[in-house]
Amino acid sequence: MTTLAGSSSGAQAPTTTDSAGSTGSTANAGWLARYTEAVMNTFGTPSRVLVRGQGAQVWDADGKEYTDLLAGIAVNCLGHAHPAIVEAVTDQLGTLGHVSNFFTTPAQVRLAEELIALAFPGRNAGGSRVFLANSGTEANEAAFKIARRHGGGSRPRVLALQDAFHGRTMGALALTHKAAYREPFEPLPGGVEFIPAGDVDALRSALGPDVAALIVEPIQGEAGVRELPAGYLEAARELTEAVGALLIIDEVQSGMGRSGAWMAHHLLAPGVVPDVVTLAKGLGGGIPIGAVVATGEAAAALGPGQHGTTFGGNPVACAAALAVIDTIRGQDLLARVERLGSAWAQELAAVDGVDQVRGRGLLIGVGLAEGLPPAGEIAAALAERGFIVNAPRPDTIRLAPPFILSDDDARAFTTALSEALSRALSEEVSS
Ligand SMILES: *Cc1c(COP(=O)(O)O)cnc(C)c1O
Repeated sequence: MTTLAGSSSGAQAPTTTDSAGSTGSTANAGWLARYTEAVMNTFGTPSRVLVRGQGAQVWDADGKEYTDLLAGIAVNCLGHAHPAIVEAVTDQLGTLGHVSNFFTTPAQVRLAEELIALAFPGRNAGGSRVFLANSGTEANEAAFKIARRHGGGSRPRVLALQDAFHGRTMGALALTHKAAYREPFEPLPGGVEFIPAGDVDALRSALGPDVAALIVEPIQGEAGVRELPAGYLEAARELTEAVGALLIIDEVQSGMGRSGAWMAHHLLAPGVVPDVVTLAKGLGGGIPIGAVVATGEAAAALGPGQHGTTFGGNPVACAAALAVIDTIRGQDLLARVERLGSAWAQELAAVDGVDQVRGRGLLIGVGLAEGLPPAGEIAAALAERGFIVNAPRPDTIRLAPPFILSDDDARAFTTALSEALSRALSEEVSS
């Protein structure tokens, strides 16, 4: 019964009869039964097994096609199997795939130069430096270490925002607000305090000469795509500077063009220059890479031997990131993200059952009206209709599609959402 789109050989699992109770009748079910027996249960059971992607489309193991409006959670910014990334990775891997950090490579140096220019445009780049890592949590881990060094012994406190998400390793987890993520792993690195997001008075009273840093997401993605209110980043810059604390901006989800600008804080607060910017997700277009871009004193806070990584700065990952940057620039994708994002947001806001549309560019939170089922159920219904989205909160559907998404695909989703919500509304009424 399965017709596999494309030709990923070996993609279909044989129907399983070996794991207890499971005689999966489809390839998806077969792989999922095996998954639960082999992979740690940190994510729950995945909803589907994906075997192929092309552009904004992906296919599951049963051959069903989806439009991917989540893109690996803001990762596959150029979509799937983009030729520029495939070619860059293939060439680099065929030339020099990995070296230790006793050496550098042209790809690493070029990427560091590019990231300084993108994060701190128009500034004399002389005082800025990059540390390359492999993920968002590692980028924030390094930023945390920069904050500790900046403090020396005299600044033990670090401020983070309520509802913040900064990652899952111990340091980044200490900066992450959700108790359910943090508490099972205490004791975590100390000194972190959470203040209400967007509240300048709370920030002012929390800051003092014993604060090493404030870390913020300009748009809180995991909190349901909620951007900091106008003026907050400007105030945060002024107030942190006044007490000598660093301003760290976590652009892991919102950066690298997703907002319609290279960095979301460039849009939200032009003129604000943070001390540290962290990047990952879209940076490699699907190849794992993270980066810390720091300027001024923060750029020199970590000295030889104080931080490191085996894979960080790997030339293949750097080549992928360079291809992403080149393609965004060469195809004017920032303008595309801005145009499609704002037009789409308006259409989505007009859908019956949508309460509010938040975000910038192609990082969109669709807030559902009261009386609808949880957003997770709506997301599941949308998957049945062939659209991949997710629900970061029970009242919010998140869209973070590839920048190359077509107008037609966006429009088709608006129609599908409208149908799914009107069906849900009518079922709520009749039940
Ligand atoms: C996803 C995310 C992280 C963590 O990145 P990983 O690559 O999953 O470790 C950190 N900060 C923000 C804002 C994120 O969205």
